[in-house]
Amino acid sequence: MIPYIHEFDFAYGEASWISGNVRRLVANNPGPFTGWGTNVYFIGRSELIIIDPGPDTDEHFALLCKIIGDCPLRAVLVTHHHRDHSPMAPRLADHFGCKTIGFGPPLVCAADNGFEEADHTGFSPDIRIRDGQVFDYEEVSIECIHTPGHTSNHMCYAVFPDNGLVCGDHVLSWATSVVIPPDGRMGEYLDSLELVKQRSFCKLWPGHGPEIPNPEPFLTAYLAHRAMRDAQIMQQLACGPQKISQMVPVIYAQTDKKLYPAASVSMLAHLIHLRETGHVACIDEPALSSLWYLPN
Ligand SMILES: [Zn+2]
Repeated sequence: MIPYIHEFDFAYGEASWISGNVRRLVANNPGPFTGWGTNVYFIGRSELIIIDPGPDTDEHFALLCKIIGDCPLRAVLVTHHHRDHSPMAPRLADHFGCKTIGFGPPLVCAADNGFEEADHTGFSPDIRIRDGQVFDYEEVSIECIHTPGHTSNHMCYAVFPDNGLVCGDHVLSWATSVVIPPDGRMGEYLDSLELVKQRSFCKLWPGHGPEIPNPEPFLTAYLAHRAMRDAQIMQQLACGPQKISQMVPVIYAQTDKKLYPAASVSMLAHLIHLRETGHVACIDEPALSSLWYLPN
C-alpha cells in the first residue's frame, strides 16, 4: 500500500515557508488531476527562482507579482509542459526580465488528450537544460535531474543546501502519477523513480499536494504498486486474449467508473512496457482498442 498523505495545510493566496530557502504557493486551480491546485515553488531569500509558475490567468499573475515584490527574479524553471505547470512561465519571465528554463519541448505533443492536465502546446524554454546541470544562486544551488516518464521532458530540481527535490508530477503524495502514451513511457517512468529513490533527499516537494517527508519507503511503495498492476494484467491475460475495455472493469473494480478513461490510458502504458520487455503481445500496433495476449 502506498502511504498516501491526504492532509494538506495551506491557504490560497499565501506563499508559506516549507524549508530554509523554499516557499510554496498553491495556485487556485483545483480539479481531479490537479488536486488542491498547482504548487508554485519560490526558491531563495535575497533573490528568487520560481519553479512551475502555473496557469496563465490575470488573477494568478497579479498574485505572483505581489509575492515577488521587489525581490530580483533570476529564473523561471519548469518541470514539464502540462497546462497546469508551464503556461505562466514566459509571461512572468518577460515581465521580470529573466529567462525560462526547462528540458525543452516534449517528443510528442498531443493537440488534446481529453484530460484536464493537457499539453501546453508551444512550450519552448529560453534555456534548454540536460540531466546533471547545476545552477548556482546567492543562497542555493539547483541541480537539474531528467526524470522522463510522466512526460518525455520531465525535470526534477534538487535544491541545496535544503536537500529537497521539487519533483513536479513525477511523484505525488496523494495519488499515483499518470503516464500517458505516447509521450509518457512506463519503462522510463520506472527508471526515473529508481533514480530518485537512490538519491537521499530529505523531502520531495510535488507539483500538487503536501510534501513527502520520508521519500525512500514512499518510493518503494510507489514502485511496488506499478509491479502489482503489471501482475494483475498478466493474470487477466492468462485467462485468454483481452482488450483494455475488458480488463479495466475487473482490475479497477473498486474505482469510480468516471475514472475508467484515465485507467484505460494508464493500462495502455503498462501494456506497452510489458510488450517492450517481451511479456505480452498484441494484434497490430499498441492502441486503446488492441487485443492483447500472452506470447507462447
Ligand atoms: Zn503533468
